[in-house]
Amino acid sequence: MEYDIVIGLETHVELATQTKVFCGCKNQFGGAPNTHCCEVCTGMPGALPTINEKAVEFTVKAGLATHCTIHNEFYFERKNYFYPDLAKAYQISQLVVPICANGYVEIPTANGTKKVRIHEIHLEEDSGKLIHTPMGSLIDYNRAGVPLVETVTEPDMHSAEEAISYLNTLKSIYKYIGISECKMEQGALRCDVNISLKPKGAKQLGNRTEMKNINSFKAIERAICYEIERQKGLLEQGKPVVQETLRWDDALGQNFPMRSKEDAQDYRYFREPDLLPIKITNKQLSAWKESLPKLPAEKKAEYMQAYALPEYDAGLLSQSKTLSTFFDACVQTYNNPKALSNFILNELNKKRNAELVEDEDAPIAITPAHFAKLVELYQTGEIAQAGARQLLDVLYETDQDPTPLVESMGLKQQNNADELESIVQDIIHQNPNAVADYQGGNKRALAFFVGQVMKATKGKANAGLVNQIITKLLG
Ligand SMILES: [Zn+2]
Repeated sequence: MEYDIVIGLETHVELATQTKVFCGCKNQFGGAPNTHCCEVCTGMPGALPTINEKAVEFTVKAGLATHCTIHNEFYFERKNYFYPDLAKAYQISQLVVPICANGYVEIPTANGTKKVRIHEIHLEEDSGKLIHTPMGSLIDYNRAGVPLVETVTEPDMHSAEEAISYLNTLKSIYKYIGISECKMEQGALRCDVNISLKPKGAKQLGNRTEMKNINSFKAIERAICYEIERQKGLLEQGKPVVQETLRWDDALGQNFPMRSKEDAQDYRYFREPDLLPIKITNKQLSAWKESLPKLPAEKKAEYMQAYALPEYDAGLLSQSKTLSTFFDACVQTYNNPKALSNFILNELNKKRNAELVEDEDAPIAITPAHFAKLVELYQTGEIAQAGARQLLDVLYETDQDPTPLVESMGLKQQNNADELESIVQDIIHQNPNAVADYQGGNKRALAFFVGQVMKATKGKANAGLVNQIITKLLG
């Protein structure tokens, strides 16, 4: 049987505020265990929370950037449960009136752009961290009370690819607006995945399962593919899918039942009595709106319209804030967006590959003006491609103006047609077989001759010119 796959995501992102959401403790990853905490975030009797305005601002900005309605009056609730990572035995969260609701983001897919609706974005506090050792379990409350925004989608995604595309889009937006670094390796972005299957075309949704707290895109992709197959297997055998929470074990590539899925009423939510309802003034709201930068989607459209870049290239450049800022600065000094984009995406990214695995927004070690000059030298025929690559190697190690290097490194491109013609003639005389191949219709022999000329000139020959000369001499 054919099935419709239905996926919804709940993404937790830690906000990059200076301090925690309900107390003045430092919001900083790492640090010796239990050094960034106080009586509020460890739930001591009599301690009272106060709201961090910056956390509210960041949550509102997340909503504005994802086309949400902003509730200008909202409050917090207590979500009650016992677990040692939360000293109070409740988490301060939001249920009835989240700060933001009813938005959407547009994600790229193989079949074009698609809208994923955002059900809500709310603000809550993170829990502490349990560290399990052979001696027993230890607790670190440094993370307890770190502001967390939870972005909940409607069940609008239908494959692992769409889910990953959505996550990439959301991450890119949140990094652009500066509310989070979204460092997954530090747990600053974690995702709960809800999946259900139903017979193709059926109206009613099937039972869903939830996999919690997956913290890498690769793991999320694998977990989704695994769970789709698992549910399919059950349905094919006529067995029901149990509505439950599963734990994804990425090392084993398998998920395991954790607990039957709880509903909101199980948490006995009630209004947080220690915090007053919060009102956002229109003045505040418009100030925050105005301070938002251009978002990745706007940047992409701008690159396509103003610079005529292909959609794919524009998408790659705009997705990373580091890359788009760098590109914009390069265009300021050398107005050839297409050449700059090509060189960034092909040559520079190749060099950055190792760093990009660690951090896709790793800073770029070259001054934009120096990089732009390098591309200009190449475009204007001062240096050949091999020379451009050599220069990039040097600039990457020691950021400097490439112009004097062309001379000192002997990279000047050979553009002299007479000299090149005499080199080509020599090579033709030395390779009668290749000449016969070429004249017999094997056009690949051309590449052989170009290669020989490049070898003879140490990669400095103007490749376009060499091509013309060979074609002319061989008829
Ligand atoms: Zn504290």
